[in-house]
Amino acid sequence: MAVPFLTVGDINARYGDELKAAASRVIDSGWYVLGEELAAFEREFASYLGARHVIGVGNGLDALVLILRGYRELGLLMPGDQVIVPANTFIATYLAITATGLVPVPVEPDPTSFNIDPARVEAAIGPRTRVLLPVHLYGQLADMPSLVDIARRHGLLLVEDAAQAHGARLGGRMAGTWGDAAAYSFFPGKNLGALGDGGAVVTADPELASRVAALRNYGSQEKYRHLYLGMNSRLDEIQAAMLRVKLRHLDADVTERRRVARCYRQSIAHPDIALPHVAMEEAHAWHLFVVRCERRDALQHHLLERGIHAQVHYPVPAHRQPAYGDMASISLPIAERLHREVLSLPMGPTMDDRAIEQVIDACLSFGVAA
Ligand SMILES: *Cc1c(COP(=O)(O)O)cnc(C)c1O
Repeated sequence: MAVPFLTVGDINARYGDELKAAASRVIDSGWYVLGEELAAFEREFASYLGARHVIGVGNGLDALVLILRGYRELGLLMPGDQVIVPANTFIATYLAITATGLVPVPVEPDPTSFNIDPARVEAAIGPRTRVLLPVHLYGQLADMPSLVDIARRHGLLLVEDAAQAHGARLGGRMAGTWGDAAAYSFFPGKNLGALGDGGAVVTADPELASRVAALRNYGSQEKYRHLYLGMNSRLDEIQAAMLRVKLRHLDADVTERRRVARCYRQSIAHPDIALPHVAMEEAHAWHLFVVRCERRDALQHHLLERGIHAQVHYPVPAHRQPAYGDMASISLPIAERLHREVLSLPMGPTMDDRAIEQVIDACLSFGVAA
């Protein structure tokens, strides 16, 4: 039996009737952009997070861009200002920074948690540093108590990339409510996934919220009056309606992900496979279950021969991408090593015991003569 990496279709099929009813409601309403479904989802997601403002936008990348654009409109950021970013994140975190005329300053991760290392953050702060942009990578909350403290002491904006961390929390405080603002993505494969693209900006700051709400809609608060050079990036009514259904099941889904992770962590005892380190159970929402292996490609091949689809997040770091040719000379040995060693095992809320067992058995047989 094959074990796919993630089956978004199976995840959504569990709520198929609810999703279809919600889509029909929107179709029949005759109102498709900036309507009641979006307003309701924004309220409901804000209440789930314990956040003051949620602004639904087109995708997670735009959510990050809109936060940084919003701060530029507020006069808090200037072109050329520096943003500290984890060296081993998905490219979108970098793209938001460069798209806004800012400069990414990559900082190495703690190799056990994969998240940005606060001690290295402190060392990377310079006179042009204005923003800390941690990512809750793979679904595990970054060390927010330390990062909040650093941001406060150095007068920096703290922006969370929470695109992978729906459901992660610490001391009851949700990912996305620790910083000055946060970006969520609702790409279909995320823990809270739409049936298309979607994203949200989260903030407690009413000034930033009103800038972002205008910037996502042509820079306008009032039709045909344009205060800012805005963009078109709105979470549409169908996606908002899909997300309202799925938000009600998010905690149950995260509980299932934690169950899969617990099975893996209890049973994959192999000298060549390093399991992910978890400081606090509630702080990890297990978007991805990432192991490390020096012979990563061989392990991936070994699993594939047994029908198990594992993936690499991410094979090439941002500073080694052709698009960032100007960063090619930077050396980030920890991040570069992680990019060679990480492997994401199948993970999702619909994995059954048989699939989990199959993954465990295949890992345990790695390097053992048949
Ligand atoms: C998915 C993701 C994004 C971008 O979200 P999109 O909705 O795909 O634009 C940003 N940052 C991280 C860490 C992500 O995983």
